[in-house]
Amino acid sequence: MDVKIGVLALQGDVSEHIDAFSAALAGRGCGKASTVVEVRNPVDLDGCSALALPGGESTTISRLIERNGLYEPIRTFKGGIFATCAGMVLMATDAADPRIHTLGLMDMTVDRNAFGRQKESFEADIPVIGLDGGPFHAIFIRAPVVTAAGAGVHVLATLDRGIVAAEKGRYMALAFHPELGGDLRLHERFLKNLGI
Ligand code: GLN
Repeated sequence: MDVKIGVLALQGDVSEHIDAFSAALAGRGCGKASTVVEVRNPVDLDGCSALALPGGESTTISRLIERNGLYEPIRTFKGGIFATCAGMVLMATDAADPRIHTLGLMDMTVDRNAFGRQKESFEADIPVIGLDGGPFHAIFIRAPVVTAAGAGVHVLATLDRGIVAAEKGRYMALAFHPELGGDLRLHERFLKNLGI
């Protein structure tokens, strides 16, 4: 099967997401014509089965989503969405920050920078519900947590400050950065959930 995946390429760790999804598509046995493309404008979403919302600065990414006319196209996008860190903030219903127009695709409240500033970044081996092969080595960089999750949001992993991984149907939101660590199990699980 040839699959096209988009990575929102307005700000943040875009190339790492492209590399990780390219490897994950190969790992899922997808066809050689499968592609991972940068999404900057609504037309770039055409034909995509999934979209990655990268880590970065959620206030900046939110502003650029609006500027590029992508807010409604992402909200109504029919494919899967794989959101990491700043992406998780954008997926929420409430980020308690007026500069961020959240997409509201997952019923959850997020606490941005819940672990403190850049120097409080850390790595941890965390158990993820339903993930075979042992704990996931997760990299947290100025990470958010989910402090409240509502209807349909399935919690996958929690640390002392709150929820750090969640799924809702075709959406996955992670407070950490699986695109940085080389472990593709979460990417592959996300693709499998989509029937890819
Ligand atoms: N704290 C950042 C924000 O809220 C996210 C950090 C990241 O994506 N690594 O935008």
